[in-house]
Amino acid sequence: MTAAVYTARKRLKALILTKEFGGQPMWTMDIENYMGYQFVTGPELMEKFDEQVRKYPIEIKFEEVIGLGHNTDGTFSVLSDCGEYQAQSVIIASGKRPRCLEVPGEKEFTGRGVSYCATCDGPLFANKDVAVIGGGSSALQAAIELSGIATKVYLISLGGYTAEPIIIEKLKKLTQPVSEFIGYTTTEIIGSNVVEKVILIKNDTKEQIELAVQGIFVEIGLSPNTEYCQGLLEFNEYREVITDCRTRTVIPGLFAAGDATNGPDKQIVIAAGDGAKAAMVAYEYLLHKVDLASG
Ligand SMILES: Cc1cc2nc3c(=O)[nH]c(=O)nc-3n(C[C@H](O)[C@H](O)[C@H](O)COP(=O)(O)OP(=O)(O)OC[C@H]3O[C@@H](n4cnc5c(N)ncnc54)[C@H](O)[C@@H]3O)c2cc1C
Repeated sequence: MTAAVYTARKRLKALILTKEFGGQPMWTMDIENYMGYQFVTGPELMEKFDEQVRKYPIEIKFEEVIGLGHNTDGTFSVLSDCGEYQAQSVIIASGKRPRCLEVPGEKEFTGRGVSYCATCDGPLFANKDVAVIGGGSSALQAAIELSGIATKVYLISLGGYTAEPIIIEKLKKLTQPVSEFIGYTTTEIIGSNVVEKVILIKNDTKEQIELAVQGIFVEIGLSPNTEYCQGLLEFNEYREVITDCRTRTVIPGLFAAGDATNGPDKQIVIAAGDGAKAAMVAYEYLLHKVDLASG
């Protein structure tokens, strides 16, 4: 959205192709590090972004991009599930999606107790027992959020926490504490129609434990949404698009911003900053490539 606003302010014709509105910030109710807002929920912040986008003549289409091609004349073909678009320049900003546990029962019970978004689905588990799986900032944040909703919250982590220290402190100060299982591997999710229990194995003793839960929140990290440019671009080992410090990929006219890139830090302010940079570099590229006055 930031990239689109910057391109529109340069009087470029911009099209946003997106699967859904808002991206990852929609999954959190607690943002305290986006400058200008001491505290804001993800959906509120994204509403503000959206309002700003809509002040400009930016076309938005809710479609999934499934392919990206680089034509012999240097232009790009963007293939979506609804059609094909031609562009002089493309900015990849397709971010990340939650990683799966890949244990028996996970797929079968997704939407029937297994969730990847505590903010979206947490309220469905009021007065129920839930498990959060993961040890990073998102997992601890989810456990904190759920402790105010669910009767019991179990936090299951493979090893020690990798969350930001401030979030670990918050977890430790909860008035309704979560039950922590550090050093456990989740091996199976069991139920009949909906989730009934989760099976864990203690890493050192191999002891098996069953926890009776109705909800399981999988918070074990994210994978980049870059499949549609596989083969066209160079990725790092995490399948992130490799860019230089000005958001340029190896293909002239193709830029990448935010979480989909190899930039080491994944934050809203960084993704938005990348988006602004990418738009300005795309403008500079187009100035040299095409006669902007003739469109
Ligand atoms: C639970 C949680 C809490 C967080 N809290 C904070 C926080 O407090 N502060 C902070 O700064 N950061 C936070 N982050 C990180 C932050 O949300 C991300 O760094 C940021 O959203 C990255 O922005 P992005 O635009 O690169 O990607 P995303 O936010 O992932 O957006 C990508 C967009 O592209 C769309 N898309 C993906 N693939 C396709 C496709 N093939 N076709 C069309 N559209 C596609 C997606 O639907 C989405 O709309 C949090 C993340 C999570 C998961």
